[in-house]
Amino acid sequence: MVDERTCPRCGQPFYVPSTPRRGRPQQWCSQPCRWAGYEERRAAKNGVIAIEYVEKPAPTITLDEHVAAVLDSPAASRNVLRQLRTRAEDGKLDEAKWSSVSDELERLRSQPGQRPDGWFSLR
Ligand SMILES: [Zn+2]
Repeated sequence: MVDERTCPRCGQPFYVPSTPRRGRPQQWCSQPCRWAGYEERRAAKNGVIAIEYVEKPAPTITLDEHVAAVLDSPAASRNVLRQLRTRAEDGKLDEAKWSSVSDELERLRSQPGQRPDGWFSLR
């Protein structure tokens, strides 16, 4: 009579005699699995094989996607507007590369009648 067992390493079924032999019962399907199993246990005990390296490329997000994400969120949009306003007040948008942003802010600011409370007054 034989008993069917499953190798804990490779999952293959293997057969052992039902009548108990001396020593420890056979646990692995083969010598290679036995060695590999012991090696893995030893390594796991040392915390070596707990680490798996999976190469994941960083997701590439386009500028447009960033913008869309910001515009999707009232909090993010408010944040951007506030920071632009602060930067404008601090004169940080006076640099040439920010001139188009300054122009846009100026356009927002100077729309008469729409925001009588001075909602976006820059100065
Ligand atoms: Zn095996």
